[in-house]
Amino acid sequence: EAGLRRQLLDVHEAATQYFQAALNSPMAARAREYMSGRGITPETVQRFRIGFAPDDFNHMRDELRKHFSEEVLRASGLFTSKEQDQQGLPTGNLYARFRNRVTFPICNEQGKVIAFTARALLPDEKTPKYLNSPETALYTKGQVLFNLDKAKAAIRAQDYALLVEGQMDCISVFMAGIQPVLATSGTAFTEAQVRLLSRFTKRVVVNFDPDTAGATAAEKSIALLTEEDFEVKVVTLEGGLDPDRFVREQGIQAYGAALRGARRHSDYLIERARTQFPPRTPEAKVKAVNYLMPHIRRVPSAIQRDAFITDAAQKLGIDSSILRQEMKQAAAN
Ligand code: ATP
Ligand code: MN
Ligand code: MN
Ligand code: MN
Repeated sequence: EAGLRRQLLDVHEAATQYFQAALNSPMAARAREYMSGRGITPETVQRFRIGFAPDDFNHMRDELRKHFSEEVLRASGLFTSKEQDQQGLPTGNLYARFRNRVTFPICNEQGKVIAFTARALLPDEKTPKYLNSPETALYTKGQVLFNLDKAKAAIRAQDYALLVEGQMDCISVFMAGIQPVLATSGTAFTEAQVRLLSRFTKRVVVNFDPDTAGATAAEKSIALLTEEDFEVKVVTLEGGLDPDRFVREQGIQAYGAALRGARRHSDYLIERARTQFPPRTPEAKVKAVNYLMPHIRRVPSAIQRDAFITDAAQKLGIDSSILRQEMKQAAAN
């Protein structure tokens, strides 16, 4: 078992080097153009060990077969086949999972590569924009935070973590000099990730994409984090840009200013409630309160919960003693 893990780490290291070498070869000309078009510098490529998966089904497999057993290749998640066994492992003739994509290693806390995410150069309807490794003996999606290996020292030193959605957001922000940054990689933040993060800090600034998906993900993350007694702040970027594009188009100074303008989670949620249900009528106020109630209840500290209620009442135009009473009644039910 320990032997298999070791070999899986080794095969990921070998694959990382394979993809890195491929990015420097003539067949990766379009990938290199794509990356420079996105402002990904050679320094960034090196630091994050970005690579290229060639448009080829067999070549990497044949290379890795020289050094690794079929069992290891099968268990690695790097390959797939037409048939699968009950555990979902490929059983037939193996071929490369990632093809014609820019590859980003996903590392464990120690900086060892345990999986990949890979971006299509030209996304279309037939292929997803990002393709990830499946879960393997090394990789459990909900237990990994992208960039924790590189960010953890800064997270401890500065006692906060900046949470973004995408790995490109994370990479751009990190390379621009804001180091305590992690990506959830598009999925909802999990309890395991919150526990992992709590070993480094209890303060988080959330900066998800300014779209519906981002707002939903932010809300879920706020819920999980406040429940575990994190101090949570939220940044919303102007102009509909995600952090990667914001940093490139407006610069790191502007991004830093946006971060300093982060609002505490209660302010953010009250604002969301007001936008969704403009409190001009009693009916709208009821809806706004119903939206906020579960968030208020989740706050473990009674003092902070009380401050949340006072703010919400004021900004929704409700008498705060009435809101407190409503909270008690809802809790009794
Ligand atoms: P890019 O800047 O490269 O277009 P992004 O990070 O802005 O990517 P979003 O569409 O905002 O992409 O999605 C946020 C994150 O969600 C991605 O970074 C990726 O981790 C994940 N994701 C997006 N699309 C997919 C997909 N089709 N399959 C799996 N994961 C995805
Ligand atoms: Mn998005
Ligand atoms: Mn983006
Ligand atoms: Mn995005």
